[in-house]
Amino acid sequence: MKIIDMHCDVPMKLLLDETLSFTREADMDVTLPRLRKGGAKLQYFALYVPEHIPPTLRFQAVLAMVIKVQDQILAERDIKLIRSKKDYDMLEDGEIGAILSLEGCDCLQENLSNLRTLQSLGVTAVGLTWNYANVYGDGAKEPRNAGLSLQGKKLVTYIKEEEMLLDLSHLNEAGFWDCLELGGRVFASHSNCRALCETPRNLYDSQVQALIKRDSLIGITFVPQFLHLGRPAAIQDIIRHIDHICSLGGEKNVGFGSDFDGIDHHVTGLTSFDRYPLLIEELQLHFSEEQVEGFAFRNYERVLLK
Ligand SMILES: [Zn+2]
Repeated sequence: MKIIDMHCDVPMKLLLDETLSFTREADMDVTLPRLRKGGAKLQYFALYVPEHIPPTLRFQAVLAMVIKVQDQILAERDIKLIRSKKDYDMLEDGEIGAILSLEGCDCLQENLSNLRTLQSLGVTAVGLTWNYANVYGDGAKEPRNAGLSLQGKKLVTYIKEEEMLLDLSHLNEAGFWDCLELGGRVFASHSNCRALCETPRNLYDSQVQALIKRDSLIGITFVPQFLHLGRPAAIQDIIRHIDHICSLGGEKNVGFGSDFDGIDHHVTGLTSFDRYPLLIEELQLHFSEEQVEGFAFRNYERVLLK
């Protein structure tokens, strides 16, 4: 089964540990051998600047991660940077697409030309915040729960005009609704259902329904504490969250955003990308082949490749 995955944190790992190699299977959850074994067709590589890096060095850190991606990932013959549907359609059998996404815009230092630079380097998806507030808006764990700032609204308008994808996964609820009002190509790359697991990183039913209504996409994430609280998460928990979205009418709006390499704990049995076939097998016991293909890649192709 072809797999499209909307979130992993490999660039951050490569930035923080010089000894890691993308081609050495066991080095990370997502490596080239693991992508091949798992059936990857398209993998997002998030550019997330770790919290300890000071404000003045954060844009430099993003550039350093892009260079890591160029040198270690895109240098591989079978991996191709994807900027458009055309790029994706040109992938040959056995080739894997890579999408660069920015996770948190504080690194832009309020300078739009920094985003233009990242666009020129291949970034095509943008999330405004990580978990906390920045000049553009409040993240999911910011208790203030304010909507977007004027700067944030301007940035969203720019992202919309440029037809980049706007990732709502880390935004707080007020910011989420602001973004929907402003329009554009929104999606949630790695979030689950708050009705089943109460954490501010998950989406309320009203948010899930709004994304379904816009025919957008929700990437089910494998972060154990976003699947189930108080005990280790299992593949059954992933199925519960997918079932819930389906019950709200969203079977054509489900995808995956594993968060591999951004997590310290894993869903039992789902420890790295090459374990995707295990998940697919379980899904095939509960859903039709058409539905499973939808979750794995077709929903993404239909909704976000335009
Ligand atoms: Zn994240």
